[in-house]
Amino acid sequence: MKYLRFSTEPHTRATAGPETHGVSWGVLEGDRIMGLSGAPYNGHHATGVTYALDQVHLLPACWPSKIVCVGRNYADHAKELAHDIPTKPLIFYKPPSSLVAQGGAVAYPPDVSRLDYEGEIGIVIGKRLRHLGANESSREYIFGFTCVNDVTGRDLQDKDGQWARAKGFDTFCPVGPVIVTGLDAASLTVETRLNGEVRQKGSVAQLIFSFDAVLRWVSRFCTLEAGDLIATGTPAGVGPMQAGDTVEVTVAGVGTLRNTIVKEEIG
Ligand code: ZN
Repeated sequence: MKYLRFSTEPHTRATAGPETHGVSWGVLEGDRIMGLSGAPYNGHHATGVTYALDQVHLLPACWPSKIVCVGRNYADHAKELAHDIPTKPLIFYKPPSSLVAQGGAVAYPPDVSRLDYEGEIGIVIGKRLRHLGANESSREYIFGFTCVNDVTGRDLQDKDGQWARAKGFDTFCPVGPVIVTGLDAASLTVETRLNGEVRQKGSVAQLIFSFDAVLRWVSRFCTLEAGDLIATGTPAGVGPMQAGDTVEVTVAGVGTLRNTIVKEEIG
């Protein structure tokens, strides 16, 4: 099943919550959306109202309380940035205020001099998780998968020493276009294209820390809630984007997340 969030109002902010007028969850079937009464991982029912995909305004595909990211989870990517391969998952956060939807503009802020794409497989949590057991599978806690672009101000990541600003600007977390359930987690792949040219290719088989290992590690220190988003790391091939570029992240079985880069002007 393909789930998405949308608004029937054209000017709804990307970060608008579920209580906002016009905002809804839905199931995508072809080019029609079947409205849902609430988040699909909570109790919900079909409202009976359907919408044409091209008549609504897409929102970020999930509504997380937090976005948990894994750094350097592909050996080739750690190497290209001249970092050691981590011996335990390297975790950081992006704020929910950084979310942007399919088709939305990613801002190139004046405070950033190198803006990189990082195509990633996104996990959407389906059930509260704390302390995943040593031999326990994460499968029942995963609702579905989506595409994430972990947009990064690479120069600030080095300059600041910690990553809150480099990873956390508004619009630095494109996610979507949909969340897909029922996929085989072991066979997922991710590809990133910049202006149509393939720049990154990766697969779950290359992950240093598996989905189980990541969720076990993260759930040791924080409770993961239904709806939370996990960005599972980026393969080799990261590189800069310029204003006017189009960046696409494809997770096989999910679809393609497409965004454009727009120079941000501040007063
Ligand atoms: Zn990343």
